[in-house]
Amino acid sequence: MDAVIRSNTMGEFDLIAHYFTRPVQRAALGVGDDCALLVPTPGMQLAVSSDMLVEGRHFFANTNPERLGHKALAVNLSDLAACGARPLACTLALSLPCIDAAWLDPFARGLLALADAHGCELIGGDTTQGPLNICITVLGEVPAGQALLRSGARVGDDIYASGTLGDARLALEALQGRITLAAPALASARQRLEAPTPRVALGQALRAIARSAIDVSDGLLGDLGHILRASGVGACVDISKTINLIAVSAEDIKATGQFGTELLPQCTLAGGDDYELLFTAAPTQRSAVAAAAQASNTPVARIGQIEAAPGLRLINAHGQQVVQRYASFDHFA
Ligand code: ADP
Ligand code: MG
Repeated sequence: MDAVIRSNTMGEFDLIAHYFTRPVQRAALGVGDDCALLVPTPGMQLAVSSDMLVEGRHFFANTNPERLGHKALAVNLSDLAACGARPLACTLALSLPCIDAAWLDPFARGLLALADAHGCELIGGDTTQGPLNICITVLGEVPAGQALLRSGARVGDDIYASGTLGDARLALEALQGRITLAAPALASARQRLEAPTPRVALGQALRAIARSAIDVSDGLLGDLGHILRASGVGACVDISKTINLIAVSAEDIKATGQFGTELLPQCTLAGGDDYELLFTAAPTQRSAVAAAAQASNTPVARIGQIEAAPGLRLINAHGQQVVQRYASFDHFA
């Protein structure tokens, strides 16, 4: 038990029982004991990942709590997706300033709706009083040896990105007043920022097809850099194939602030908070990749190629090298 949280009517254990305890589904034991118990499927490896969301750092204090519950789990499910793992269960470590039903109700609803959509059972956690801080650990499973890793890219591989890139960053820039978007465009970009879609089905469909994968959390180029370093290769990316991956259209951007014409490439290439999959596959797998995209109902675009020469080169539609630099998000930069 932790620093006790109390409202007039509810304490820490009532809170856990009311908001976060449900009948167990797949787990052998869920919320309520010192540990939860989970029985691994024979022949599978457990995939485990944690992500923390801190108020003021990862989200605004006034963020819609239902979307926040969704996002806190979505960013974790995205890590399972990047490894090609199937979600099994999650734990929730929550630091809360106070017990506020008007916040906890929608937060739990958003989190548990996404958990249910992916068969990811909430089996435990920790609850304490403190600044708002949400840390989720997800557990998934993947057939032994089949996890998609950052280290598997090979020279000649095609590079692909799923879905749309850059809209979350556009929304952030707009919400912070640095650019201006038309209202409908802001609403859709904001949805991408606050309620991202983890590409769980695509990740699993890419097992045995993709050679490497990562989820785009800090920006396309920075995250591609992780694949290149882990795999000991370089890459060439055609930025004309990335620019149209942003969903908001240029006409919806009313003012670009200091970014000018660089706004769209900057957001697409280095925006962050996209939670799309970035992966590589041999050119012989092009039809298999297309079939995986179709089966998982997730668009994918081929944006470049893995090369032997180290480093990341950007080219335009005419094959000319682009010298502009795009920095990805780094919490400590
Ligand atoms: P302990 O003190 O033994 O660590 P706690 O009192 O912290 O146990 O938690 C009691 C039970 O409630 C445990 O099973 C724990 O996993 C679960 N739990 C605590 N907080 C949460 C939460 N936010 N969501 C889900 N389960 C939780
Ligand atoms: Mg505890």
